Amino acid sequence: MPRITLCAPDSEKSCFACCPPIRPKGYEHIDYRNIIRRILRENTRAFDPSSKEIIPITGFSCWALGYVDDRYRQVGCLLHPARNRGKDLRYRVDYGQKCQRESCLGARRFMALSPSARLFWLGLAEGLDSFEYSSRRYNPLFRLLEWGVGLLEKIASTEKGNRVNSKTFFERYPFFLTHLMPRAHTYLVDSLVQHCGLAPLRDKEFVPRFEAFCTRLIRKLPSVTSSPTAPYTHCLDMDETLADFLRLALGMKKIEKGEALIIKQKVDQEMEAFIDQLP
Ligand code: SF4
Ligand code: SF4
Repeated sequence: MPRITLCAPDSEKSCFACCPPIRPKGYEHIDYRNIIRRILRENTRAFDPSSKEIIPITGFSCWALGYVDDRYRQVGCLLHPARNRGKDLRYRVDYGQKCQRESCLGARRFMALSPSARLFWLGLAEGLDSFEYSSRRYNPLFRLLEWGVGLLEKIASTEKGNRVNSKTFFERYPFFLTHLMPRAHTYLVDSLVQHCGLAPLRDKEFVPRFEAFCTRLIRKLPSVTSSPTAPYTHCLDMDETLADFLRLALGMKKIEKGEALIIKQKVDQEMEAFIDQLP
């Protein structure tokens, strides 16, 4: 099976959300679709693969971003080694190293999924063009991937890899329409799924119930003022989803491991009590 990536999943579309790597917060290419289409066509026509000229990127547009297929559907880097017989020409822009390093959380998580799970989840992006696919507003995968590899793998295997479109998926799993920030709550949802399976995530009435529980839980947990010498939470040797909960749901950027484990115990107790009273 060919290697399927989030960046370039098939011949109909590709993601170019991180080109160039420095953009204003909340920027989306799709908001400037017509002008960017014109720029991409011009870049593609003007590109000279034999040139070694260094041309810095200016502003929020990169001269090396263009169409990488004959049908002008896939947008990508004209300097990428895949386009230049293995030669990386990205040194020709002054962001060279940053471009080589660029990989978003979604792309990394997507690569950690099994090939069949990747195909399953791509069903939700079926029919999107490259502008829509690159947009967090249109492409649900960016947000869904924040729920973590374990949960996404479990859903794909429960669905036996049968692809569904995004409308069917959200009808089947209304939980994922929640306003909760995924990374901040993955620890709780993983724990829920461990005890109850996926059934609550399919129940529309469960969503507000779980959201209310999360709000109560966060209010109820003891507030910890960490010493300035405490380690950064994300560097602690512990489950990444727990560290994300402490950091993103409770705002604890630094914490001693012992304090983190006390909070974990309390959270686990509250979670068990919540699960016990589910119908
Ligand atoms: S790294 Fe992420 S944002 Fe960049 S092209 Fe790939 S999927 Fe899109
Ligand atoms: S050089 Fe390539 S990877 Fe870097 S911003 Fe330009 S198009 Fe994107």
